[in-house]
Amino acid sequence: MRKKGIKIILSLVLFIIAIIIQFKNEYVNNIIFVISYIIVGFEILKKAVRNIFRGKVFDENFLMSVATLGAFVIGELPEAVAVMLFYQIGELFQSYAVDKSRKSIASLMDIRPDYANLYKNDKIEKISPDEVKIGDIIIVKPGEKVPLDGYIIEGRTTLDTKALTGESLPKEIKEGEEVVSGCINLDRVIKINVTKEYGESTVSKILDLVENASSKKSKSENFITKFAKYYTPIVVVIALILAIFPPLIIKGATFSDWVYRALSFLVVSCPCALVISIPLSFFGGIGGASKMGVLVKGSNYLEALANTEITVFDKTGTLTKGVFELQKINAIDISEEKLLKIVAYAENFSNHPISKSIKKAYNKPIEESQIKDYQEISGLGISVKIDEKNVLVGNEKLMQKEQIDFEKSIDIGTILYVAIQGKYVGYILISDKIKDDSKYTIEQLKKNNIKQTIMLTGDRKDVGENVAKQIGIDKVYTELLPDGKVQKIEELLKNKSEKGKLAFIGDGINDAPVLALADIGIAMGGLGADSAIEAADIVIMTDEPSKIINAIKLSKKTMRIVKQNIVFAIFIKIAVLILTAFGLSTMWEAVFADVGVSIIAIINALRVLRVKK
Ligand code: ADP
Ligand code: MG
Repeated sequence: MRKKGIKIILSLVLFIIAIIIQFKNEYVNNIIFVISYIIVGFEILKKAVRNIFRGKVFDENFLMSVATLGAFVIGELPEAVAVMLFYQIGELFQSYAVDKSRKSIASLMDIRPDYANLYKNDKIEKISPDEVKIGDIIIVKPGEKVPLDGYIIEGRTTLDTKALTGESLPKEIKEGEEVVSGCINLDRVIKINVTKEYGESTVSKILDLVENASSKKSKSENFITKFAKYYTPIVVVIALILAIFPPLIIKGATFSDWVYRALSFLVVSCPCALVISIPLSFFGGIGGASKMGVLVKGSNYLEALANTEITVFDKTGTLTKGVFELQKINAIDISEEKLLKIVAYAENFSNHPISKSIKKAYNKPIEESQIKDYQEISGLGISVKIDEKNVLVGNEKLMQKEQIDFEKSIDIGTILYVAIQGKYVGYILISDKIKDDSKYTIEQLKKNNIKQTIMLTGDRKDVGENVAKQIGIDKVYTELLPDGKVQKIEELLKNKSEKGKLAFIGDGINDAPVLALADIGIAMGGLGADSAIEAADIVIMTDEPSKIINAIKLSKKTMRIVKQNIVFAIFIKIAVLILTAFGLSTMWEAVFADVGVSIIAIINALRVLRVKK
C-alpha cells in the first residue's frame, strides 16, 4: 500500500508540474506526462497483458489500458495520465478498506488463542502451542482441535477432518497413526507425540482463514461476477462500432472525433464501482462484525442473516452461563467426599461446562494416571475407568441406556447420576444461571421481526422449561440427544418459508451437527468447543447471545448499502455512457464520473465498518 501511495504521489506531482508550468517545448511536457503515466500505469498494463495470456481478456485492467493508450494515440496525454491516476487512487482506497477489515478480523483471532495440553511427569499443563517442541507429548480431549502435527502413542478416536479435506467425514484413527493439526477430536482422549513445530503446522492455516473469511461469496457478489462477464465484451464491441462506423457513414464526421468518443465510452464503461464496492461492502460488514466481537466466516452468511426468520438456541452455555454451582450431594453407601472425588476424576478430560464447574468445586489435585478409557458420550455424560473400576457419570438417559438400577431424583436442577461397576451410588445436583442478556436477546429478536424463538436442550424437562419461561422463549424441546436436535432442526427447516433463514446458536460438542445443518450456524467462541466453532458459520467471541441482534442489524445495514451502491453505480454509469456516445461528455467528465462513483461507493461501503464497540 505504501509503495502504491508513493507511486501515486510521484506521478501526481509530475502531472501537476506539467499542467501548471506548460513548458514552451511541447516535447518536455509530453515526456513528463509519459513518465508520469508509466509510474502509475505500468502495473496495470503488465496485468492486462498477463491476463490476456491467461485467457482473462476482458477485465478492468484491459479496459483501462486500451482506453488510456488510445488517448495517447489521439494526442490526449493529460487525460491518459488522469485516468490512470484516478483509477489507482480508487484502488488505493479499496486496499485501505480491505486492510482495515482484515486487521479487525485478525485481532479477533487473538481473543481465542490456540493451546496445547502438554503432558509431562503425569501432569497436564495448558500452554501456548508454539512452546511445544518436537518429541513432546500432548493430550487432545474430545471436542478439541489437534493443535500440532504428530502421531498417536496412546488411545484411539474418531477425527473430523473437515479443516483439511473440506468434508466432515469422521475418520477412525488408532495408535501409531498420524494426526494432522486442524482436525477435531470427536470422542476420546488421545496422546500425541509431536512431530512438527507450531509455526510449520498451524500459523499458515489461521492466516488462511483470515484471508478466506470473505471467500464464500454472497449472491450479490456472484451476480456482479456474472454481470461483468457479459457486460465487458458487449461494451468493447459497442466501442469498436462507435469508432469505425459513424465516420464512414456520417458526412463530416472525423475518425479522431469518434475514436475519442469510443475511447471515453470505454473508460466510462468500466464497471469498477460495482466490481469494487459490492465485495467491499461485504468485507466491510465482516470487518464491522469483528469489531463487535463477531467472526463471520463468509459474506453469504452475512447476507443470509438479514433474512433470519427462526432462531433456535441451545441452552447450556448458550442462554445459560454454563457455570454450575454445586447444590447437593446425595451419596448412597459411599461418603459424599468420595462421590465428589469420583465425579471430578470422571470429568477431568471433559471440556463441557459441567466438568469445569465440578473440578472447581472439588478443588484438589487429580492424579491423571488413575484415569483410563475416557469416553464422552455427547448429550448423555461420561464413561471412564478410574482406578480400574468402570464409572458412569451422566443423566437419566445414560443410566437407562446402561441399564443401571437407579432412583430418579425430584430435585430441580441438573443432576449427575453416578454408577461404579454397574452399581448406582448416588447423584450430585448442580444448577446453572441464566446469562444476563438472554431475556433481552429474546425480546429484541421479537422486536426485529423474528417469527419464532425456540430452545433445544439435552437437559431435563423441568430445567429446560423453567429457563424458557424465565426468558420468554416461544417453544422448548428438552432431553434431546444430538440426533434429536438434528431431527428437530430438519423439521423446522422443512416448515419455514422459502426465503426465511433458520439460525442455530449453540456451543457444545453435541451442537456441531446442527450448527452445520442450519442455514446459519452460530457458535459461542469463548466457552464453545472447538468442534462447534469449526462447524459454525458465525462465531460470537464474547459468548453474549445479544450480539446476534447487533449482527442481524449490521447485516441489514450491509444489504442496504449494497443495494444503494448497485442502483447508484448502474444509474450513473448508464447516464454517462449515453452522454459519451452522443459526444455530450468529454473524457474528463467520463473519468470523474467513473472514479467519482467508485469513491462514493467505497466511502458508502466503509460506513458498515464503522461500528460502536
Ligand atoms: P445443552 O443441550 O443444554 O447444551 P448438553 O447437550 O451439553 O446440554 O448436555 C445435555 C445433558 O447431558 C446435560 O444436561 C447432562 O445431563 C449430560 N452431560 C453432557 N455432558 C456431560 C458431562 N461432561 N458430564 C456429565 N453430564 C453430562
Ligand atoms: Mg450447550
